[in-house]
Amino acid sequence: MNQKKKITVAYGDGIGPEIMQASLRILEAAGAQLDYEKIEIGEAVYKRGISAGIEPSAWESLRNTRCFYKAPITTPQGGGFKSLNVTVRKTLGLYANVRPCVSYHPFVKTKHPVMDVVIVRENEEDLYAGIEHRQTEQVYQCLKLISKPGCEKIVRYAFEYAKAYNRKRVTCFTKDNIMKLTDGLFHKTFDEIAKEYPDIENEHWIVDIGAAKLADSPENFDVIVMPNLYGDILSDVAAQITGSVGLAGSANIGEGFAMFEAIHGSAPRRAGQNLANPSGLLLGGIQMLVHLGQADAATQAHNAWMKTMEDGIHTYDIFQEGTSKQKVGTKEFADAVIERMGQKPAQLKAVNYQGSSVPASTAYQFKSTSPKKELVGVDVFLDWKSGTPNDLGAMLGKIQHESLKLSMISNRGVKVWPDGAAETFCTDHWRCRFVAREGKKLAHKNVIEILAEVEALGLDFIKTEHLCNFDGEPGYSLGQGQ
Ligand code: NAD
Repeated sequence: MNQKKKITVAYGDGIGPEIMQASLRILEAAGAQLDYEKIEIGEAVYKRGISAGIEPSAWESLRNTRCFYKAPITTPQGGGFKSLNVTVRKTLGLYANVRPCVSYHPFVKTKHPVMDVVIVRENEEDLYAGIEHRQTEQVYQCLKLISKPGCEKIVRYAFEYAKAYNRKRVTCFTKDNIMKLTDGLFHKTFDEIAKEYPDIENEHWIVDIGAAKLADSPENFDVIVMPNLYGDILSDVAAQITGSVGLAGSANIGEGFAMFEAIHGSAPRRAGQNLANPSGLLLGGIQMLVHLGQADAATQAHNAWMKTMEDGIHTYDIFQEGTSKQKVGTKEFADAVIERMGQKPAQLKAVNYQGSSVPASTAYQFKSTSPKKELVGVDVFLDWKSGTPNDLGAMLGKIQHESLKLSMISNRGVKVWPDGAAETFCTDHWRCRFVAREGKKLAHKNVIEILAEVEALGLDFIKTEHLCNFDGEPGYSLGQGQ
């Protein structure tokens, strides 16, 4: 018998308390060995003026148990509230979001009867760094940050998951035909790490056609790993096309912490009526038991749940005349699952989680290759609306710096000087690229000198980006049309 494992539990808002109670009852009946520390999160906490929706004292519990089972919460309308999920993920370093998306045909209506896809989404980086700036009247910017350690951790997690769950293939989605450096790094890291798993097939799709194929023929996919934004969108698409987002759970995994939840929200209109389907949260809880090494209880709970689905005992959201047999409330659904404990589904594929725990990654260490970094130029961004690209080129051409010369001006990434196309629409946001003159070595002070010259011309510079080579390889993209 397993020793009881302490976990932190939040009952959340809306339908949260009902579905959490139902899920915990089912997990306990399956033999889960859990002790609970209850914390409060969500609406009431936000309304007390705590912008992250979680009390400082709750972190103590999370640090203590390192495992968080979380019901959905309601984010109050209006500004000033920070996403609790993003805060928890980032604070605890939950870099992997794992979302199994499975069809339960013919018991839940779906256009895709054969579907068993696991989306492994990078959870901390990409556009979700939330670094945004308004730079000019017309232009706003959001920084997309992708790190080599971030890519290594998530891609390795996807392959380790595939290995632990006996999956045959890992697919990677990126848009590296456009974002050659950021998404390029993700794809390159995928190719490197895939070589360490010769028994698992690997493939890469550009995310647009990959997404189309996933929505059209999900039966052709197994495990899919992707950067944060694509993963956010496509994991909802994948869950929806199984027949219902209400049936999906998700795990958020880090090196020392993990959080498990349903993917749906707090459905406030259904709250307190014993109507909600606890399945998403339950399936998140089953992922939790596997993570905690309680494979027997996870197996029992999941098989009993599938048997209940097969027996047509359904909550209102998936109830269908003809297929379903009995419409039940949250409590009665949990009772039905508990009654079937020890049984296996007859048609759906029974699970066995023995040996499925993904090995907890030991403290990740980035192996530096100490690349030689060389400053070779600078992009100076301007807020300017006083003329044509050629006017700006002529103005900046007046700068006579001994080490740097103007090589290009672009607007929204498209080269507009020299030799721009007259048709290109220009905003008030200009990138002016200065590069090292033949044979000149650059230093930071040269950048400052260029900025002083730009300022002397009366131009409003809004930011700079250094152009560096790493071991001789350019660490920057060319202008479109350059
Ligand atoms: P929602 O997921 O709560 O509801 C969408 C629809 O699905 C509604 O019709 C709802 O009744 C139904 N539904 C959802 N879960 C169900 C269940 N278990 N059983 C039966 N029906 C279910 O999304 P929403 O309405 O956009 O958001 C409501 C609140 O939830 C918002 O405050 C939002 O910020 C929050 N939210 C929280 C989380 C989270 O805590 N992880 C995630 C998403 C949304």
